[in-house]
Amino acid sequence: MNTKEINHHLTDALLMAYSAGTLPEAFNLVVASHLSMCDECRARAAEFDAVGGEVMEATGEAMLEADSFARTLSLIANDDWAVAPEPAPARERGDVFPSPLQAYVNGDLGAVKWRKIGGGVSQAVLHFDDEANVRLLKIPGGVAVPDHGHGGTELTLVLQGAFRDEHDRFGVGDVEVANEDMTHTPVAAEGEDCICLIATDAPLQFSGLLPRIAQKVIRI
Ligand code: ZN
Ligand code: ZN
Repeated sequence: MNTKEINHHLTDALLMAYSAGTLPEAFNLVVASHLSMCDECRARAAEFDAVGGEVMEATGEAMLEADSFARTLSLIANDDWAVAPEPAPARERGDVFPSPLQAYVNGDLGAVKWRKIGGGVSQAVLHFDDEANVRLLKIPGGVAVPDHGHGGTELTLVLQGAFRDEHDRFGVGDVEVANEDMTHTPVAAEGEDCICLIATDAPLQFSGLLPRIAQKVIRI
């Protein structure tokens, strides 16, 4: 994996929440997986780790209050906090999953138990709780996922292949952050299956009636 090919990154708000340990397990897994693939975000996360303790000590406030968020960003902007990134954890040649995901599923792609959910698309739910869920989605090349809006935040990390939606193109290592304001129809690029790791903190809102019924059954 050449980290320079990654064009879509995590937001500062997500990195800061990850550093503060306030993200649900589902989001932690996607963030940790992207970090292990991306030098740029790993360096940024290390800055938040370094600054986070200082801010907590100085203010005694929760990290994500608007005030301390702005203060933390300004601390980082003055660059005394620049931290060299740790080297990326090694992956075996030919592995599809980054190491945090390998640890989570106890293996690579071969360890996943897929369930077909229609249209050639398969999924594997890895974890769900009251806060958020995380799953793998496998979309054959050229196939579209039904267009949908989001009741909350959706984080999509590409592990194999690529997809395109109305907004941009996403290849291996790229992460798309979608929220309430956004509706999209992701389409897998021609060629090999597109495999994504997706965390959502609310059920997706499909535009059509049928997917909404199916949603109850397949839990996406
Ligand atoms: Zn990144
Ligand atoms: Zn979406």
